[in-house]
Amino acid sequence: MTENIECARCDKVVCGSEHSQEGPSNCPTRTKSEVINQALREYDKPEIMEFARQASIQESECYMNLPEGLTTRYPRVEEVVQFAGKMGYKKLGIAFCDGLRGEAETLNTILERRGFDVVSVCCKAGGIPKERIGIKDEEKIVSKFSGPGNWESMCSPISQAEILNDEGTEFNVLVGLCVGHDSLFFKYSQAPVTVLVAKDRVFGHNPVAGLYLSPSVYYRKLRRKEAV
Ligand code: SF4
Repeated sequence: MTENIECARCDKVVCGSEHSQEGPSNCPTRTKSEVINQALREYDKPEIMEFARQASIQESECYMNLPEGLTTRYPRVEEVVQFAGKMGYKKLGIAFCDGLRGEAETLNTILERRGFDVVSVCCKAGGIPKERIGIKDEEKIVSKFSGPGNWESMCSPISQAEILNDEGTEFNVLVGLCVGHDSLFFKYSQAPVTVLVAKDRVFGHNPVAGLYLSPSVYYRKLRRKEAV
């Protein structure tokens, strides 16, 4: 049986250096050279090359080398603005969760103030009932306004993507779409997509907090051994 590739558990991590061929036996740099070479050909497409080049420049500009050490520079929202500017995009899309309407409005304003033409689309656009995708009454969100017997509009990330496709946005920014809904948006968006806000209902849309806190007493349940 072949070993799984486990970069996340690598105890050598030489891929960032000129010794990249000296990784462990399951290192993809060693075992997947054909796949890597095939993938590299994609960068030979001029538009992909330029996208990758600008992303890499953007990455480097997000640090400052100060006397006290490498220092971070821009919040992600600024990074999004700067990258879109580098790419020469004029028309940006925002696909947002209805639950983050205020955040989407703020982003809309920030992007407009930086000179972009902005189209924003809510996940509920279309107002299609959840029954359309086979949701039963007991599978609805129970709240004062929704739940069994009540109307609940489905989130339609495919509609969001197609509306932004129809509007001709050049770069789309996700704000808080749910897990799975975001996946569908990625699948159907014609323009490249970046995520500004990854929804996390518990940790203030900062999902990495769940990883940082998982060794602690109050959150160790996140590490339980239990198949789903
Ligand atoms: S690519 Fe190789 S060296 Fe880099 S983290 Fe993965 S296994 Fe380790």
